[in-house]
Amino acid sequence: MSAKSKHVRVVIRTRPTSAFAQDVISFGVDKKSLHIHIPKNAEWGFINNQQENWDFKFDNILHNASQEVVYDECGSSIVRSLLDGYNGTVMAYGQTGAGKTFTMTGATENYKHRGLIPRAISHVFHEIAERPTLAFTVRISYLEVYNEQMVDLLATLSDGERSDALTVVEEKTGSTYVKGLTVQIANNEEEALNLLFEGETNRSISEHQLNKNSTRYGGFRVDTSHCIFTIYVESRSRVESSEKVMISKLNLVDLAGSERLSKTETKGKSLKEAMYINRSLTYLEQVIIALSDKKREHIPFRQSKMTHVLRDALGGNCNTLMIANIWGEQEHIEETISTLRFATRMM
Ligand code: ADP
Ligand code: MG
Repeated sequence: MSAKSKHVRVVIRTRPTSAFAQDVISFGVDKKSLHIHIPKNAEWGFINNQQENWDFKFDNILHNASQEVVYDECGSSIVRSLLDGYNGTVMAYGQTGAGKTFTMTGATENYKHRGLIPRAISHVFHEIAERPTLAFTVRISYLEVYNEQMVDLLATLSDGERSDALTVVEEKTGSTYVKGLTVQIANNEEEALNLLFEGETNRSISEHQLNKNSTRYGGFRVDTSHCIFTIYVESRSRVESSEKVMISKLNLVDLAGSERLSKTETKGKSLKEAMYINRSLTYLEQVIIALSDKKREHIPFRQSKMTHVLRDALGGNCNTLMIANIWGEQEHIEETISTLRFATRMM
């Protein structure tokens, strides 16, 4: 057996629903385990698989949890580490409509339902205020990866111009950055939030410019791209005269919908889009698995734009967390099991 070290924390989040299939999905009292039981010959079951019972174990299961609880469990300590100089990545994974964007961005029109990104922004500035001996600079970038093309969500997209010139650069120090990507200073919470909103607006503009399939599934916009919101923190001492600068970053990633190829026709994705998404999620999985294998020296970061961009904020000393979003309805059980299996392989 190869030596395995744990690199990714995996948390499951269920999307609240009145139609939760209680007799199918049950949770352990430890709030970490999940059992799925599909009655024999159930017509809605897992068609190509005879297994009727599945047991899963994760770092945490957040069932019907509020945005505040999700932030406390999934964002809070990672943001504190960010201020202490550690890189981190939080990713939301799951099928379209399962709650990835709600988890990361949240309901922008409803402050109470704001997601992990606005909460992390607010937390960053609160933490800064508590560290008066340090001078901080906060910067923000917002990148979209669609069919292996990178789009700068903080560049002006409305004039028909696209930022095709973006490239991932690896520095000798091991850090990576995207050359050409707008990285804007945010002096306070409000400025950082405005950058988030600007990026959100450009996300829908880019949908048209890239000729994305903007069909809806079950009333929800189909997620065909990965979006990476990054908070960079730089700090130096105000009291010591040393030149020492501490730099760290946190990637907050809203992944493209994970639904399987066989399902995409009914879900408004083109085959090409679905193939790009499946491939990049597979590459993400390969990178995470390689990182957890201590004997592996080569980590295949360069296979996809997303893993390449995330390179210096995955594994090692970095805080890496995946929130796998699932539906609780019986009709989605096949996708839910698929999501839970993917999430299990990440651990
Ligand atoms: P995804 O990004 O995974 O496709 P969304 O985040 O867009 O899914 O969620 C689909 C819909 O469900 C949205 O209208 C969203 O507001 C709602 N929703 C998702 N998760 C929750 C939740 N935990 N609580 C309340 N509403 C939610
Ligand atoms: Mg979404």
